[in-house]
Amino acid sequence: MTKKVSGGYNGKILRVDLSANTIATEVIDELFCRKYLGGAGFVTYFLWKELQSGIDPLSPDNKLVFALGPLTGGPLPGGGRNCVGAKSPLTGGIAKSEVGGFWGAELKRAGFDAVIIEGISPKPVYLWVHDGEVTIRDAGHLWGKNTKETQASIRAELEDDKVRVASIGPGGENLVKYACIMNGLYDAVGRGGLGAVMGSKKLKAVVVKGHKAPKIADPERVKALRQWLQANMQLVQNFREFGTGAAMEVYETVGNLPVRNFRDGLFPGVKNIDAPTIKNTIRIRMDACFGCPIRCKKVVQVEEPYAVDPAYGGPEYETLAALGSNCGIDNLKAIAKGNELCNAYSLDTISAGSVIAFAMECFEKGLLSSQDTNGIELRFGNDEVIPKLIELIARREGIGDFLAEGVARMAQKIGRGSEEFGIQVKGLEAGMHEPRLKPGLGLGFMVNPHGADHECNLHDTLYVGGRPLEELKPLGILEPVPVDDIGPRKVGLFRLVQLVKIVFDSLVVCEFFPYNPEQLADATAAVTGWDTGVLEQLRVAERILTMARLFNIREGFSAADDRLPRRFFQSTNDGALADKPLDPAKMEKAKSYYYTLMGWDATTGIPTPEKLEELDLI
Ligand code: SF4
Repeated sequence: MTKKVSGGYNGKILRVDLSANTIATEVIDELFCRKYLGGAGFVTYFLWKELQSGIDPLSPDNKLVFALGPLTGGPLPGGGRNCVGAKSPLTGGIAKSEVGGFWGAELKRAGFDAVIIEGISPKPVYLWVHDGEVTIRDAGHLWGKNTKETQASIRAELEDDKVRVASIGPGGENLVKYACIMNGLYDAVGRGGLGAVMGSKKLKAVVVKGHKAPKIADPERVKALRQWLQANMQLVQNFREFGTGAAMEVYETVGNLPVRNFRDGLFPGVKNIDAPTIKNTIRIRMDACFGCPIRCKKVVQVEEPYAVDPAYGGPEYETLAALGSNCGIDNLKAIAKGNELCNAYSLDTISAGSVIAFAMECFEKGLLSSQDTNGIELRFGNDEVIPKLIELIARREGIGDFLAEGVARMAQKIGRGSEEFGIQVKGLEAGMHEPRLKPGLGLGFMVNPHGADHECNLHDTLYVGGRPLEELKPLGILEPVPVDDIGPRKVGLFRLVQLVKIVFDSLVVCEFFPYNPEQLADATAAVTGWDTGVLEQLRVAERILTMARLFNIREGFSAADDRLPRRFFQSTNDGALADKPLDPAKMEKAKSYYYTLMGWDATTGIPTPEKLEELDLI
């Protein structure tokens, strides 16, 4: 007999088939929750179990899964997030992305732990989920609107300005391969093109409202964790004061700042676009996700030459680098405008910036001509092109239609050696961090099932001392691991950190919170009432990663897809990495050892039958 879920979960999944116009509720039990935890775990499980291999990601056969974790919407700060996943139209493999804001917490109060969207609606619709009730409503009048107009119309229609809206703009509707989904107006389900999947289903928005949070098993234990955080707020002081992007000047000095499509190292204009400059110029306030005392979200306002609407927040580090230094641009107002437009049209800023940077390099090399670009001078540093191109991409007009396909498809079409500087892995444009400085991150870019993701990854520079290293001592990492090491010690560290990140993404907790693995397990136990610990959580993470690996293998991915673009095996033109290319042989060796540690075949990367049995995956 199955055991009902205890604290933290609703024990219910909502399944909506837009082709059949049906709505169903399914029950999940405690064993299921312990085995897959929530968030990234639930998303990966449903995609692995329910999708047929070889399906078109933009067809009715794909499923879009929104999932919460046991800590979502609870009293522990950092739990205002949710995870979303589907088969990616960008990579053809599994995609999942976490997002902040308030939507996840509200869905929890509305009575569900996950929403699975199937099929394709014959006409634009939105889903209205409130206190266990669910309706599919007409969205014909919303199609073509940006995210701000969409949210305002829905709130007016439902006569409630507190409903939480996850929506797409024209980027998602027009199936831009890297369209995102916006929680509110400035929290993006950024990576992998999940907004295009939503657009393909003619689903304009999922709107939630609820009043009943699941019970917490041990409120006193949760209170102790809250008090620890309150007493240690100095650990997150930098985020509180500046948000992300405070250290960009240091990044440029040490070689972590991508400059001109990861080609160069020096970028003197970095001071014009970092978070301290934002604070002193265009920032009007800071904002927060659900129940968060850190408040790391910048809100900016600009009057001229571009009007930037503060309703869309402000640029995070990834955006500052993607639309800024990586395009050779140090005009902060142009970057802020680009950020606003991406949020309005639902485009991932990392992929949008990477696509533009790649196109700029192609243009400068003569691989794209003015004829190809509708007369636009696509040169590094030309800040005027940022707003212009984002408009064209979202509407798939002119050159925008080509740029909407992402770097991998563009490089395939352009050919003539452009693949070598197309900065993507498995089709996902890389996060704004340098593998030539951080080889462990480079390994993460190679083997991550979702592509070159910087979040679920190791940042080598953090493990030479200080708190991140202290946090791993109970897990056996007792000494610093040199930044440039890519031997077995670094691979072991990478694997451990990757597993801990999957725990964060499954619970689903903001990674900016300084919780160590033991505190995450403690929080889980306090909320759910389970007698759980770090070992169980790492095993769950291993199960989730292995399922994602199986998903990709089923789609035809192999060890050959776990590879970096050639640019990373060359030096940058100048700066700190001018004579520091990655060594391809060392990276291949590291990959093989990672496979071994994961219980996958050392050459093919296919999980062994024994590992699958151990993880209860067969
Ligand atoms: S630290 Fe920032 S991203 Fe994380 S929950 Fe708080 S406001 Fe959101």
